[in-house]
Amino acid sequence: MRIGIIGGGIAGLTAAALLSEAYDVVVYEGAREWGGSAGKFSRGEFTFAAGATLGMGFERGGIHERVLSHLGISLEAELLREVMIIELDGQRITYHKDKRKFVKHLSEIFEADKEGIVSFYEELDQIVSRIEPIMETLPVLPLRTSGDIKALLPHTVDGLMIAPYLMQTVKTLLARHGLLGTTFERMVDGILLDSMQTGIEASALLGAIALTIYHRGAYYVPGGLFRIADALKEKALENGAELQMGRQMTGIRRVPNGFLLSDRRGRFELVDELICAMPIEGVMKISDSSIERMLKKTYRHQQKLSQWATFTYYAAIPEHLVQDGALFRQVHDRTLPSGHAFISLSKIGDEYRAPTGYRTLTMSCHIEIGRFSKERNLYAVQEQEMQQVFERILEGQFPGFNQHALERLPGGPGAWVRYTFRPDGGVGGYPQLPGSSLFRAASFRTGLSGLSIIGDTIFPGAGTIGVTTSAIHVARMYGVDI
Ligand SMILES: Cc1cc2nc3c(=O)[nH]c(=O)nc-3n(C[C@H](O)[C@H](O)[C@H](O)COP(=O)(O)OP(=O)(O)OC[C@H]3O[C@@H](n4cnc5c(N)ncnc54)[C@H](O)[C@@H]3O)c2cc1C
Repeated sequence: MRIGIIGGGIAGLTAAALLSEAYDVVVYEGAREWGGSAGKFSRGEFTFAAGATLGMGFERGGIHERVLSHLGISLEAELLREVMIIELDGQRITYHKDKRKFVKHLSEIFEADKEGIVSFYEELDQIVSRIEPIMETLPVLPLRTSGDIKALLPHTVDGLMIAPYLMQTVKTLLARHGLLGTTFERMVDGILLDSMQTGIEASALLGAIALTIYHRGAYYVPGGLFRIADALKEKALENGAELQMGRQMTGIRRVPNGFLLSDRRGRFELVDELICAMPIEGVMKISDSSIERMLKKTYRHQQKLSQWATFTYYAAIPEHLVQDGALFRQVHDRTLPSGHAFISLSKIGDEYRAPTGYRTLTMSCHIEIGRFSKERNLYAVQEQEMQQVFERILEGQFPGFNQHALERLPGGPGAWVRYTFRPDGGVGGYPQLPGSSLFRAASFRTGLSGLSIIGDTIFPGAGTIGVTTSAIHVARMYGVDI
């Protein structure tokens, strides 16, 4: 059986590496780079992470570790004792890997809210102790088959214990501990937005995981997170998969013997079954009317949701501008559209990213879809304005930035459309609200036999570990034992 996969991001390449052990697999990637939102690009001697920079899931039993060890791949990932620095309201908060140390640090910084903060984390721990054993089995949600339900049965007790939280938000938890309206609430809001695509309105269950996940392990991957894509791609090739770059697919048609795909240049491909490793909206745009009808029915809840777009910015800076050891930092600034931005630096000596004496950086913030004009000249002005805001913040972080930084490349939503084909530049999946996540999330099963969708708009959602999970789900459906 020939399985076609459209999309060579982390989701598509994970599925390709796993499925090519048993099937004839072909991957079509529209861009000239692998990895999509977790990919890279190079300018001269510098290599920039396009989007994702902070790794998770490399600890024993973590999502990437499971896939990589199943495939016999070894990939270097350095555990961060200090995950990031958060700069907020004049405070410099160190996000320690060690939870106790972090909670103690927070209690010292936000002394007046100490009791609430301690009890808030205690409640998060209680939730996580119940939900983690369930999530570790990688349940398939929303439940669609008797197999999905059967897999959850051993966890009925844990499930019942956390059921009251199902429709609660993190905001409810913060209110319970008297933390609404505090600077701590803003810190939590910022952390959640980066991982759940919504702030304190996030699902309490998933929010509890997001707010404790770095304590399981956050990682710097030498070279960048695109290394995951690279390793998966090599494994798929080794297993005999066909990987085609520069093949933007523009049509999917259901035919009696499978799916007929057409690309931008009018060439055709026939596959028996199809996995679309790209956003749901992107699949709808290129599907024939009968497939589109089915997708509209299956994903009717998701059509009411919107992803965020992003403004990204890339630069290379001389080593001497970096005054501390932090590789990742979240900087709050009220002039930014979402109130904060995330800055990632390459590590000293990571020569894949920059020659000796230099570091590369990627900075990003959330922006609403549609904020940037579709009119070219206006778009260019808006891009320039955002670049100036970013460069002002970077000058504050790395004094001398404006004088010494090299390359300085802005990446507005248009760049995400052009290079990763993300409709309207929407990235990172849907907000993980109680009404749009877990049992109400999007299923990888489209309702049409032989057609699946995986990636960050599908349960469990965004992040390289989220999309790897949906790729595992599809691989398991095809009988891969992982
Ligand atoms: C700025 C930013 C920062 C982030 N930071 C982090 C982070 O630090 N840590 C983390 O874990 N996650 C992070 N994320 C989220 C993470 O990168 C994504 O959730 C994840 O990589 C998405 O993977 P995917 O395979 O689902 O989709 P994508 O990465 O979008 O991959 C889809 C691929 O399909 C291709 N494609 C689409 N349409 C077609 C078509 N018609 N024909 C052919 N090919 C097509 C695209 O070119 C792309 O390569 C970040 C995301 C962004 C945008």
